[in-house]
Amino acid sequence: MMADVILSVRDLTVEFQTPDGPKRAVDNISFDVHEHEVFGVVGESGSGKSVTMLAVMGLLPQGQARIAGGEVKFRGKSLLDLDTEGLRAIRGKHLSMIFQDPMTSLNPVIKIGSQIAEAIGLHQKGLSRSAIRDRAVELLGSVGVPNPGRRFDQYPHEFSGGMRQRAMIAMAIANDPSILIADEPTTALDVTIQAQVMEVLASVRERTGAAMILITHDLGLVAETADRVAVMYGGRVAELAGVDEIFAEPRHPYTVGLLASLPRLDASSSEQLYSIPGQPPGLRGRPSGCVFNPRCGLKRGRERCETEVPALREVAPAHAAACHFSEEVGDWVREVAAAKREAAL
Ligand code: ADP
Ligand code: MG
Repeated sequence: MMADVILSVRDLTVEFQTPDGPKRAVDNISFDVHEHEVFGVVGESGSGKSVTMLAVMGLLPQGQARIAGGEVKFRGKSLLDLDTEGLRAIRGKHLSMIFQDPMTSLNPVIKIGSQIAEAIGLHQKGLSRSAIRDRAVELLGSVGVPNPGRRFDQYPHEFSGGMRQRAMIAMAIANDPSILIADEPTTALDVTIQAQVMEVLASVRERTGAAMILITHDLGLVAETADRVAVMYGGRVAELAGVDEIFAEPRHPYTVGLLASLPRLDASSSEQLYSIPGQPPGLRGRPSGCVFNPRCGLKRGRERCETEVPALREVAPAHAAACHFSEEVGDWVREVAAAKREAAL
């Protein structure tokens, strides 16, 4: 039995204004996140991961981007109908976001502690100043900042990159949000610090039961951390399934390409099984039909891929893919692997 849905996104479409008119960065995407789970979102740069989450948070750049359609619900309540006040009441308290670059959230001219205290004070009105300070120091300690009492009075530039990331996490979790959206939270950090930050997030979730949306291009991290995964490509969801199913039996040619670019444990060399030719589309010149069709090895000249947008449909229990020929993916992978073995002989 799956837990209740906490966040539901339906047919969400986001457009950017460009000199050529409005262009879709996110095109009719739908997914659900359940209470307590880790929902991984993967896909090449430019696939619409961040824009989707900014839309969910009500943080799209004003005047540049707009939600052109769809629905976002938090525990059944529509977020898109909320005014600025209503959104502010939810943001930080129920949903909060951790960015790749901590300086997106931290103000360089305000002491770290004051910024965390402000986040606490925004949603916990009854607390005294000293109670807020104690709570902020406790939060800094809980995310692994040493000497939190002294660090409270320092500015962001006095923190290292890893410590700044922790301070931002402290701010994001200040009000025990029910969903944490972590957008490439460790991409800018070295491997050791990366592991420490992931541990901090895991311990926060263990304590608060928060669900997490983890956006990353690190498939290893997804394999270790996520319960379910959405693979995004060209502003759409290409595939959506449990993490084990995605890795064991991908049902979309794009997912196959992403996975094949991982170093294989069972391979004698670091050679890739398969690599995706070409580049992902930008906002302009998105292909018609299936957005992935110009790069797809399974297309095999079929016209339908160029004319008809494939719906995200269930291709196995709790496993959805947006490919007209998803049923052929397994055989295709085996063929490619066999041809590769033959070529190596
Ligand atoms: P991802 O997070 O998956 O790397 P994004 O969600 O940031 O990708 O971007 C999706 C698409 O929207 C890309 O084509 C990107 O160029 C475009 N985009 C993102 N932000 C802006 C912006 N401020 N102005 C114009 N286009 C943007
Ligand atoms: Mg991004």
